[in-house]
Amino acid sequence: MKRIILPLRWLLPCLLLLMGSASAAAQCFTSSPIPDGVFERMQGRSFAEGCTVKRDELRYLRVLHYDDKGKVQTGELVCNVCIAQDLLEIFEELYKAQYPIEKMRLIDEYGAKSKSSGADDDASMADNNTSCFNFRNVAGTKSLSKHAFGRAIDINPRYNPYVHMLQGKQVVDPANGAPYAKKRTKKNSPMIITTDDLCYRLFIQHGFTWGGAWKTMKDYQHFQK
Ligand SMILES: [Zn+2]
Repeated sequence: MKRIILPLRWLLPCLLLLMGSASAAAQCFTSSPIPDGVFERMQGRSFAEGCTVKRDELRYLRVLHYDDKGKVQTGELVCNVCIAQDLLEIFEELYKAQYPIEKMRLIDEYGAKSKSSGADDDASMADNNTSCFNFRNVAGTKSLSKHAFGRAIDINPRYNPYVHMLQGKQVVDPANGAPYAKKRTKKNSPMIITTDDLCYRLFIQHGFTWGGAWKTMKDYQHFQK
């Protein structure tokens, strides 16, 4: 895995924030055009062959979040410019509430099955990685996912699996999320998204829809706008 070197101008306000300076918060939740190094990492992965979204329609976000062990981590996301501000505001609120998000790494770190299929969503979900942009189809179909436009985000996917029917059988993606497909209460895991929790409320307030409310299938990790 590549080491991430944090620029000093970014690190200092974040240290101040950790010491309790709320005014530094805004500088720890940043959105920028896709930097060259990040764009390179995305090639043949989330920015798959034939990608119809332009680089300047996307934004690179850095946010702070608490992980599943209560430690503060720096998360990275790539999203559509039209939801960048929403995500910054939502993740700042989740951070203030110490809402647990296990991992938030670029999905490109999980590689790709082929250069035209997007980065490996199955591996990212199984690793409980929160991610947004990935130029790929909806699993098992030929239509582009909202993730392909960077307008959908999957939160703690292992604990909030995608439950759907395939050839008459119920499938849970990722497979290691099966224990969380039915027992959908915070008692089973604090990362389970319910209609009572802050994560759900914030996304709905910002105009997103939730895959957990779909009728024919349930995509509990998924919010889109
Ligand atoms: Zn999704």
